[in-house]
Amino acid sequence: MGAAALEARFRHMVIVDENDDPIASKLQEKTKVATYTTHLPRKSRQPKNNENALPKTTVTSLEATPAKARQTSSKTRHPLSVVVSQESDEAADKEDALAAADVKSQARTQGHTRSHAAEGKGRQSLSQLRHPLSVLSQAPNADVKREQYPVRLIKQPLPKVLHLGMFEVGRALGKGKFGRVYLARERDTGFVCALKVLHKNEIQHGRIEMQVAREIEIQSNLRHPNILRLYGHFHDSKRIILILEYAGKGELYKHLQKEDRFPEWKAARYIAQMANALQYLHRKHVIHRDIKPENILLGIHGELKMSDFGWSVHAPSGRRLTKCGTLDYLPPEMVDPRKCDKPYDQKVDLWSLGVLMFEFLVGRAPFEDTPVMTQRRITKGDMTIPSFVSPEAKDLIRKLLVLDADQRISLENLRQHPWIIKHCSKHAQIERKDG
Ligand code: ATP
Ligand code: MG
Repeated sequence: MGAAALEARFRHMVIVDENDDPIASKLQEKTKVATYTTHLPRKSRQPKNNENALPKTTVTSLEATPAKARQTSSKTRHPLSVVVSQESDEAADKEDALAAADVKSQARTQGHTRSHAAEGKGRQSLSQLRHPLSVLSQAPNADVKREQYPVRLIKQPLPKVLHLGMFEVGRALGKGKFGRVYLARERDTGFVCALKVLHKNEIQHGRIEMQVAREIEIQSNLRHPNILRLYGHFHDSKRIILILEYAGKGELYKHLQKEDRFPEWKAARYIAQMANALQYLHRKHVIHRDIKPENILLGIHGELKMSDFGWSVHAPSGRRLTKCGTLDYLPPEMVDPRKCDKPYDQKVDLWSLGVLMFEFLVGRAPFEDTPVMTQRRITKGDMTIPSFVSPEAKDLIRKLLVLDADQRISLENLRQHPWIIKHCSKHAQIERKDG
């Protein structure tokens, strides 16, 4: 596949899953749309006065704009721009309230016209709610729409063109199969992040265009304290650069290797955080499908950050057929030849969570063996939990590693399980701090 074809893929970056249902509509249900205009300058330098070329003020009637009008405005966006939601639900709600109040007062004094000064003020207060790297789009035909559908107006600051020159690039944080990750700081704000640099030719050779597109599309729409944020991305002729949240304590896997196995209180806290992140993902109809210690990073305070959404999928119908993930962590419904032509659902992540819990407590995966034997053992649920694991932890592992997917413990019930309560309740945490 040539570079042009890859560009085309990114131009139409929506997830097309087996149900042919684009992710964007579902994931953005509660949030307003925003755009990262994502292109690198052709000649490495970005014109400084780029923003001045654009009209300074816009109020967009997104909620009231009919589908056809929205389509028109999206066509005017940069072809490589990706629609991302920028705010947490809470911030979005706050912003709604601010925008609505602002618009009301403006309407009172000026009918449908606004002063630039008033808008500037409004923009400042909105931007304070937002992340330093976040930007919102503007719709050029907004004024016309406002006249026709004066229902709900949302302020839209100017778009920000992302490029490498915006960042001071620091030390390499690690190397993956398809690129390197660097510590970086945004020059304007001092905001620290990680830049993942992927080489387009390697992506083409590895035939992982869809995987990368999917990773970007899904991860940039997720907002959860235990999920690594993807703030945005941009590209030049050779590379695609992802702007990621910096996970200060690195890979969980390395911590596990160093400690051999985690004490139960620590394992329980990680499992509880995983369960929170999974509950959030599943509510959004996203299945991770590749849960393992290598795909989990730790934030600066040791908090868990789920990452690597290359195998994740948005499956609004709830059921999928593709095989993927790492053998040790795969559930019976994905490895058992008798079952694997049937679709599977979000419960695959519950099985993997059970494998993860076992590995945290024992130091190795429960079905670790030769590939053929691992597959066989998974199919039968053939595992032995060592005696040093507490009875409560054993009970939870057995409730997760259930062959019949429908019988696995739900994430809600997992959070109420005695092993989790024992180690994760406020009381237990205070005791640990004191002890
Ligand atoms: P794969 O190519 O299969 O994703 P990988 O997960 O090892 O493999 P990357 O995601 O490219 O590859 O990451 C490479 C390494 O860089 C990671 O193993 C981790 O140590 C480090 N790293 C990646 N992202 C971050 C981040 N956001 N913050 C801190 N370190 C990171
Ligand atoms: Mg990775």
